[in-house]
Amino acid sequence: MQCPRCTGEMSYEMFEDLKDDTGDIYFYGWRCIICGEILDPVILSNRKSRFAPIIGRNRKIMGRR
Ligand SMILES: [Zn+2]
Repeated sequence: MQCPRCTGEMSYEMFEDLKDDTGDIYFYGWRCIICGEILDPVILSNRKSRFAPIIGRNRKIMGRR
């Protein structure tokens, strides 16, 4: 897996997240070991349905409940 931002190597890890509409608190995704970019199915789906970009550490703002 290659990072789309810096083309660095990415590792597959478990992440902790605030509970959202999907009801998931934990999820697995790819994290860049160089720049910290995070890719996961939730982020990818949010990027399709919502205008605001969601990048790494800012994603906890997503929690509305
Ligand atoms: Zn990167």
